[in-house]
Amino acid sequence: MIFNKRPVTHNTNVKLVEMPEMYQGEGFGAMQLSKVVGLARKNSIWPLPFATSCCGIEFMATMAAHYDLARFGSERLAFTPRQCDLLMVMGTIAKKMGPVVKQVYLQMAEPRWVMAVGACASSGGIFDTYSVLQGIDQIVPVDVYVPGCAPRPEAILDGILKVQELVGNEDIRRRNSPEYQEMLRSYGIL
Ligand code: SF4
Repeated sequence: MIFNKRPVTHNTNVKLVEMPEMYQGEGFGAMQLSKVVGLARKNSIWPLPFATSCCGIEFMATMAAHYDLARFGSERLAFTPRQCDLLMVMGTIAKKMGPVVKQVYLQMAEPRWVMAVGACASSGGIFDTYSVLQGIDQIVPVDVYVPGCAPRPEAILDGILKVQELVGNEDIRRRNSPEYQEMLRSYGIL
């Protein structure tokens, strides 16, 4: 039997996740619990795509093979709020739809993050009309805004990286802090 002897090539352009800062010594390593939890959380974000219009199509491209959101540990999309930790709102949100977005947000367990993808979700976009919500931050707190109409998949990936940065650096006690509780109260959530 004759085998085709093609040379095996390895991709050397692979970047590994940076190790968090830690105290290291002979046979031990110690680091903050927040850093360990942050590292695990940021690389396993489960998004809930709330797509109402054209920006959602860009998100479909972001999920497909070329841009491949799975590379960032976020391939597990779901429409089950209780199992997701990143609400991605993409598209025009009519005022009638506002309570639905808020209900989805309320059904998500803490810790949860929100990304407004595109001009419409961030500010109402070109639809400065009586029927369109002028930004979802009028009803739920937003962590990251992705600009563009429509944002390209690269911009959406950049938004995901920004969310990862927030998630990785968040103190595990932040959600119990008076400032966070006050912020939720300002949205009428507590
Ligand atoms: S920002 Fe532009 S592309 Fe995105 S939903 Fe609005 S109109 Fe469509």
